[in-house]
Amino acid sequence: MKDFFPIIELKGKPYEMGKTHGRALAKEINANVELYFMMFRGLTGLEPQQCLTHAGRFLDVMQKDAPLLLEEMEGIARGAEVPLKEILFLNARSELMSMGQAPDDMPGECTAIGLTGERTSSGKPILVQNWDWHERVRQTTAIFRIEPEQRPKAIFLAEAGQVGKIGVNENGVGVLLNILIIEGMEYGLPVHVLLRMVMGTQNTAEAVALVKNARRAGASHFLIGDKNGNIKGLELMPQAIKKIDPSGGALVHTNHYCDAHLAKKDMGRLLMPDSFARFDRAAALISTRKKWDNKSLAEIFTNHDDVPISICRHAQAESEEFLRTDTVASCIIDLTESKMRVSYGQPCGAPYREVVLP
Ligand SMILES: [Zn+2]
Repeated sequence: MKDFFPIIELKGKPYEMGKTHGRALAKEINANVELYFMMFRGLTGLEPQQCLTHAGRFLDVMQKDAPLLLEEMEGIARGAEVPLKEILFLNARSELMSMGQAPDDMPGECTAIGLTGERTSSGKPILVQNWDWHERVRQTTAIFRIEPEQRPKAIFLAEAGQVGKIGVNENGVGVLLNILIIEGMEYGLPVHVLLRMVMGTQNTAEAVALVKNARRAGASHFLIGDKNGNIKGLELMPQAIKKIDPSGGALVHTNHYCDAHLAKKDMGRLLMPDSFARFDRAAALISTRKKWDNKSLAEIFTNHDDVPISICRHAQAESEEFLRTDTVASCIIDLTESKMRVSYGQPCGAPYREVVLP
């Protein structure tokens, strides 16, 4: 039995990096495609062929706005011996899920916290999140240590077949993700592609400008930080984006829009009402100490108050198969050292392990 995510080393030109990824994780990529076909049937009513037809429509924007990442996706498809549309589908699955009719009450997802140096014992900024998603994704997720020809080097956690998610680069730029939900999407850049593009930046200001100026496909919150302690939240949707500053050195986010204007389009507050309880819990816990370190932060992310909608989440046996949400991983990002500590599954049951740059 696995006791940690596979660590995949990618180096060189985009297509070569993709091919290595596809070859190493072919089984996981196929399992991921099957998982999302099942979830899409349950969550949106879309059949596999419809999913792939919609996914294929992202080709144009990828060619124009992210050609190197498209080359990487072509390499992944080649390495795993699957059609490119399946790789586009995995990378755009968050956006495509906003098509069709969502169920009335979905289990909520991630809890994320950013702390500036004034709130940590070391005086260094930290980003932390529990990534909550379908329980089967633990088996199809990997950690990538990348050394692209174009630099910068980076480490990130992502699902097999995806080009990005939660990570940090050698410039000390890190990013976390909270999914947010609105009705509809556009054929812009998917959030998982934008998360990887953040891994190519020099600092928070450059990352914020990049996401702000991008043609965006869907909704999300990115919690971005850099080694100089510049931490920003970015609540985004295709038509609008709002920046959030830390308050008292801390920035907490879950799965609803905090900005009053963007909140008018928020479906997450209806579909995932537990987002508010987790937000209040995390904010209350953060206020109990002036300074935090890796050990004390783990106490927040293993918190089981309000089970089953606790910060540390355990899938409920009685849930429908397509709604079984677990804490898949907990990640603590050290921005000054460009390294991550990651738990395999819930941090209450697995140790955090350190992952460093290649
Ligand atoms: Zn737990």
